[in-house]
Amino acid sequence: MLKKIKILGCEFRVTRDVDTRKYLGYCCVNKQHIKVAKGIHPKQAQAALIHEVLEALNSMLRLGMPHRTIVALETGLNAVVQDNPKLLDLWRKK
Ligand SMILES: [Zn+2]
Repeated sequence: MLKKIKILGCEFRVTRDVDTRKYLGYCCVNKQHIKVAKGIHPKQAQAALIHEVLEALNSMLRLGMPHRTIVALETGLNAVVQDNPKLLDLWRKK
């Protein structure tokens, strides 16, 4: 998994160290840190990362989305990414 991702120009550290008994993911916008649980299936980790990116965007853009909306977008985006593994390669120069 990536160790750093840029969200709206801010570099977030991504680590795998959250307590899986409580959360699959965690995002702190102030510390620019996203945590994803370790020891979970890679597809679950991917969904958790998407979720935390959405949490960061919700906060940084002051969207005010309720958590159920974030969860719904996570489900939808994750399905698109799963169903189209080469989605983000579409316009990549060879
Ligand atoms: Zn959440």
